[in-house]
Amino acid sequence: MANLPVHQYNKNMKLHKTLYLKLLLAYLLFGILSFLLVSTVTNRMILDNLTRTQADSLYRESQLVAVSYGSEIRQSGSARDDALTQLKALDTYISAEIRIIDSKGKQIMDSREDTGENSREFPDFDPTSSGTYYMTDDFYGAFSEPTLSVFYPITADYQVVGYVVIHTPMSSIYSSRDRILQISYLTVLMIQILSLLILIVFTYVVYHPLRKITHAAEEYANGNMDYETSIHGRDEMGYLAGTLKYMASEIARSEDNQRKFIANVSHDFRSPLTSIRGYLTAMIDGTIPPELHEKYLQIVLNETERLTKLTNGLLELNSLNPKGMVLSLSDFDINAVIKRTCETFEVQCDRKKITIELILSGETLYVRADKDKIQQVIYNLLDNAIKFSHNNSIIKIETTEKNDKIFVSVKDAGIGIPKDAQSLIFDRFYKTDLSRGKDKRGTGLGLAITREILQAHSQNINVISTEGVGSEFLFTLARSKDQRS
Ligand code: ADP
Repeated sequence: MANLPVHQYNKNMKLHKTLYLKLLLAYLLFGILSFLLVSTVTNRMILDNLTRTQADSLYRESQLVAVSYGSEIRQSGSARDDALTQLKALDTYISAEIRIIDSKGKQIMDSREDTGENSREFPDFDPTSSGTYYMTDDFYGAFSEPTLSVFYPITADYQVVGYVVIHTPMSSIYSSRDRILQISYLTVLMIQILSLLILIVFTYVVYHPLRKITHAAEEYANGNMDYETSIHGRDEMGYLAGTLKYMASEIARSEDNQRKFIANVSHDFRSPLTSIRGYLTAMIDGTIPPELHEKYLQIVLNETERLTKLTNGLLELNSLNPKGMVLSLSDFDINAVIKRTCETFEVQCDRKKITIELILSGETLYVRADKDKIQQVIYNLLDNAIKFSHNNSIIKIETTEKNDKIFVSVKDAGIGIPKDAQSLIFDRFYKTDLSRGKDKRGTGLGLAITREILQAHSQNINVISTEGVGSEFLFTLARSKDQRS
């Protein structure tokens, strides 16, 4: 990741700019749409509502006219004149023109016309067709501007004989609507200003930290792993910055480990190769006489064995990734595995006159683990115990049970491990200074492999050691469930 070209990160910077632009565009769109909504939908709703309210009130008036003057209107003479006077008074009072039309569409009376009977005709007038009690047009060409016309039937002998129609110009409704619309526009504007606050907060809380984090990522990508962001909040941005910093430090640490690892490997490969080369050159140029060739070839062979062991150890460590290690778990008797492993060391023990004492809990002791890998753990520990033990000493292997765990201890009375080295012996390639003389073929990988196997089993290994007295390696295993039941 650290090797990715910087321009790829610059692309990300552009991305964030687009993010901000998108948000600005969304804000503008929100503003435009709000105003459009008010000018169309809200406008329509206000107009409909005001028209209906006005129509309702005029409907009540028309009903009053129809009930009060229905009979007089259709008469002639003074009764009719009286009715007209009344209509004119009402017209002034409610500021609306009142018209009486008979069932065939002929105008009988008009509060604003004195032209008399049948002055106008509205043959198309059919209140039943509209399904409602008002209309908002020019009333069959009677008006030059849109007018609200409300009608109510006049009945006699259960029959409709005419209609009371009250007209009022829509202009007054329009001006009421415009006043309410102005308030709506003002409200939308205030909401816009308030939402601008959200945009400003977003800029400071999200956008600026995001830019800083992107910059930090760029710095890490360029190898500046110590770069510090100024984001320390406890929110998601602070968490992201912290995680990124942690990731950078982990990369730096892993790079450092890798460097150390390669230095160690190179060193451990170089020394046997140097000695092999040295002996072979000396044999070819005659520095080592032919009668000594066998002795030195044996040394060369030993060195190649060491190289093989080293290569195998490395390959094994590579395949033992505790996170991805595939374990083939089974229930097996750990006591039997210990006994069998001890048998493989008989020759070495005889050579150093070492006795292995087994203090095993019970005849059999079942554990649940990967049998082959645990055998290798015991092998590595016993191998070290024998290697670092003095001649004529005793090695004790003990198994104990405690709750769900089985404890296995391998204890020797050998050279011991210095205190400050005890935490390092499980690292790859680590060898104590004490051991270098005793074990020239050691690779320093055995305990690293051991620990990784136990970690993969979610188990622990510890060491208790006193320099010059001896060492005890103690590890845990999970007890087999079968045996407990
Ligand atoms: P090696 O293959 O060299 O034995 P290990 O990883 O098994 O590598 O051990 C690492 C180092 O820990 C050894 O080189 C030695 O210095 C020390 N060590 C391990 N076991 C013992 C022990 N039983 N007694 C003393 N030192 C030990």
